[in-house]
Amino acid sequence: MKRVLLIQPIFPAAKKSLNHKNYLPIGLLKLAAWQKSLGNVVSLSFGMPTYDFAPDEVYITSLFTYWSRHVKIAVEQVRSSYPNAKITVGGIYASLQPDHCLSFTGCDEVYVGVHPEAETYHPDYTLINTNIQVIHATRGCIRKCRFCGTHIIEPEFTAKRSVASEISKRLVVFYDNNFLANPHIVDVLEELADLRVNGRHISCECQSGFDGRILRKKPSLAKLLKSAYFRYPRIAWDSGVNDAPKVHSEISILKDAGYSLQDIQVFMLFNHQLCPDELMEKVEFCFNWGVQVSDCRYRPLDLYFDGYNPRKSSQSKDEYYIHPGWSDRDIRLLRRTVRKNNICLRYRIPRERYSQKLERFTRYRKRSMLSNLGITSTTLSATELDAINTKWICQKQTDSDRKQ
Ligand code: SF4
Repeated sequence: MKRVLLIQPIFPAAKKSLNHKNYLPIGLLKLAAWQKSLGNVVSLSFGMPTYDFAPDEVYITSLFTYWSRHVKIAVEQVRSSYPNAKITVGGIYASLQPDHCLSFTGCDEVYVGVHPEAETYHPDYTLINTNIQVIHATRGCIRKCRFCGTHIIEPEFTAKRSVASEISKRLVVFYDNNFLANPHIVDVLEELADLRVNGRHISCECQSGFDGRILRKKPSLAKLLKSAYFRYPRIAWDSGVNDAPKVHSEISILKDAGYSLQDIQVFMLFNHQLCPDELMEKVEFCFNWGVQVSDCRYRPLDLYFDGYNPRKSSQSKDEYYIHPGWSDRDIRLLRRTVRKNNICLRYRIPRERYSQKLERFTRYRKRSMLSNLGITSTTLSATELDAINTKWICQKQTDSDRKQ
């Protein structure tokens, strides 16, 4: 019997990501289930290990290459606490840059790609406290976008015909790279629509969004997604502004299936080959269509640092990656515009009424405004939103009258 310690380093993820399900160490949870099946004792730790046994083996997961420093810190901490333990690093950074990972972190071994034995096990959710279940119905991707490392980490596209037997929680998040590319997608969606957990239907989300090209080819999938209780559908728009009609038709397909525009998001890669003006045009299209943008700042797959700080007013090229044709100013302007548009769409505020203060329009503040207005429901109707906006606008007017 071996003692096995699994570690997810502390990554500098945005607070909202940590509260959400973005970084569940699903690979480690599968490793845990596999190791337990071998009769080994397993513990999971976030950051510095606190477990009271000296492990024989330690598995550390990694995320983006530009967060490699945090993996190195974890390896060093383990090495100084447990000098005799064998340390293996796996995950995204390890798979994309195994040589760098081995020499930079000082680990004993790098694991590249998906662990075939662990992959056959269901994640061991007894090790974490979460109400979310993460599922992969497919691995790999049918496409090979030049900025994406999926084809390196998961070179083979594999798909399951059924996932229902794996599901035991009511909130299911699919970590598939290209969920709709599954050749059995109709079967999977139909079983999700019929599935009940504790007598109630489940809710699903797809972390990486849906492939719009497949949606356009098979628009009937949008209705199946809706019936399978998928929420917050996201599509990507990484091509040029000329593709606006195609993206608009993907949004219309989702809307016709019953999704509200406010719930649809468009992933948009920036700081890459398209110039800043073209990105701003795309962002403006999305605003006019009434859909929010999720901006994704490009970093090369062999970038090992990222010192971008959204709170600073300016930074140099030495501090973070700025793509040729882009400047620090362009990046901040784009992000500001996206944030402003999203807030205006989310709260139905006219853009000319936007104030940065609204970014502090937190759930708590919204709730207190609601209760002042005598509104108790948690899902806001258009009338209720209008009431809040009117109150906010009146408040702003009163504040500015007072100042004069
Ligand atoms: S479709 Fe998505 S997952 Fe597939 S290669 Fe392109 S970016 Fe990567």
